[in-house]
Amino acid sequence: MLIFQKVADLQRWLNSRREAGERVGFAPTMGALHQGHLDLIRLSKNDGTLSVASIFVNPTQFNDPKDLEKYPRMPEKDIPLLISAGCDVLFMPTVEDVYPPGEEFTVKLDFGQLDEVMEGVFRPGHFLGMATVVNRLLNIVQPQRLYMGQKDYQQLSIVRDMLRQLGSPVELVMVPTRRESDGLAMSSRNMRLTPDMRATAPVIYQTLQWANKAYNGSNAATVGAEAMQKLAAAGLKPEYFDLVDGITLLPATPQTNMVVACVAAWAGDVRLIDNIVVG
Ligand code: AMP
Repeated sequence: MLIFQKVADLQRWLNSRREAGERVGFAPTMGALHQGHLDLIRLSKNDGTLSVASIFVNPTQFNDPKDLEKYPRMPEKDIPLLISAGCDVLFMPTVEDVYPPGEEFTVKLDFGQLDEVMEGVFRPGHFLGMATVVNRLLNIVQPQRLYMGQKDYQQLSIVRDMLRQLGSPVELVMVPTRRESDGLAMSSRNMRLTPDMRATAPVIYQTLQWANKAYNGSNAATVGAEAMQKLAAAGLKPEYFDLVDGITLLPATPQTNMVVACVAAWAGDVRLIDNIVVG
């Protein structure tokens, strides 16, 4: 695996591979990698693309400076994991490499309700920062395929909309959520859970599964409200539990074709999100 920090070095190398006929698959991450991240790499390798991962803790998508400070960073563990998954290239830039001073990269797109609901309510500015860094990284890496996890369903929906609005030819590949054996969605944040909260956190997935059974096509709001109560009763602090249209992210109605149950809850001082497609 080759590791690049500088944009120009990465681009020079990728250009030579593209000229040799290779296609590029890209998986952007913030590091502290787990098997869910590695699934993105494995899928990209399975698809026959040159697999490029990035590790970049993007400051512009953290609305809470404490969250940015607490975000785990462990490149010495990440690098062997990426090698084990068959990753070809790791791009590990500094903030100045991604956002050279004096240049403006902020995405100027209107995502409508997509970035206003759910996470948008609780993490103002988060998705603008996320879209900006994904767009910037796509411009640097210029992949044919972009691999992102279903775990961050709203993020994926916004990136899909961004690619559509920009008329981008990049193909977005949604990678299923990788879970621990007790159902907890893998997340870099899980390592910060206290033993008590680690034992409680699987209630999130259990409640999603309960919602899947309880949803009858016309009771999205009551299922969401009851799910909130279940999470609180278990000792979590839920922020939302919404059953939404998988495309518009608006509340599910009896006409909705694909319903996704999405949840965010605090487990102690760790904020966890998860979702499943319902029905
Ligand atoms: P992050 O490092 O949290 O920004 O995540 C980088 C990418 O990995 C995003 O596309 C995530 O959706 C994806 N990802 C994170 N956790 C999982 C998981 N448990 N299963 C599958 N993909 C994941």
